[in-house]
Amino acid sequence: MPRKEFRALFSSDWSECLSPNGPFDPISFNYPQHSEELGRIFRQYTGNVITLKDAVESINGFLPGGLTREEMDAYLDASFSTYCGVPELIEWCLARGILFMINTTGTQGYFQRAIAKDLLPRVPVVAANPFISFLRENDDTSYTHRVLEIDDKGRNTEAVMRELGISPKKVIVMGDSGGDGPHFKWGASIGAFLISSMTKASLAEYCCTREIKINKRFGLSYGSGERRDPEMEMEANFMDLTNLIEDVLDL
Ligand SMILES: [Mg+2]
Repeated sequence: MPRKEFRALFSSDWSECLSPNGPFDPISFNYPQHSEELGRIFRQYTGNVITLKDAVESINGFLPGGLTREEMDAYLDASFSTYCGVPELIEWCLARGILFMINTTGTQGYFQRAIAKDLLPRVPVVAANPFISFLRENDDTSYTHRVLEIDDKGRNTEAVMRELGISPKKVIVMGDSGGDGPHFKWGASIGAFLISSMTKASLAEYCCTREIKINKRFGLSYGSGERRDPEMEMEANFMDLTNLIEDVLDL
């Protein structure tokens, strides 16, 4: 855990939330013959049809051992991408004592290499899936918290909130799909502020059926079965969230 004092916590999903990329894209990039199957597995677990554990087991079935560091680097060099203003928002938060935490089903190895390559600011806490993981780089990022199942996201944010002694009123949770549903459910239960980004119908439905109020919708919102519009998604600038964050956290 970082030693710096933090007064607030912003815990966000990554895939299709801060980045247009998906957690299995590095695998599809290196093994395009499996991309169709990977796409199907991704939709099933983000739509709450199968568990993440089942998804990882399926992938291990045709790709035992995951990716090498060289394969991950090749993917990152060719395809690493965030939405507009995301690195700036992370830096903006860190400069104001807001711990920016990535809490995602993406793999630890993706973030280890993205941070090592300076593609991403040095996020203090990355909670991710260890199914692809490399030897630690010389950085300060904590990978102690892991996402083995989507329910872990709420547990991870709660653990960091408690470790830092941050009040629930100073917590913001962000996500895009049904895979973030349990994180939102936990956030709503403690009174955290909930932001959906590039909102998928699976998250809207998860929240609606459980009477969870999404406090702010950011970027595009998709109806059930609607195709993503990556070009329009890139029009959103995440720095537009800073005024709202200041208000919510009473900075
Ligand atoms: Mg996502």
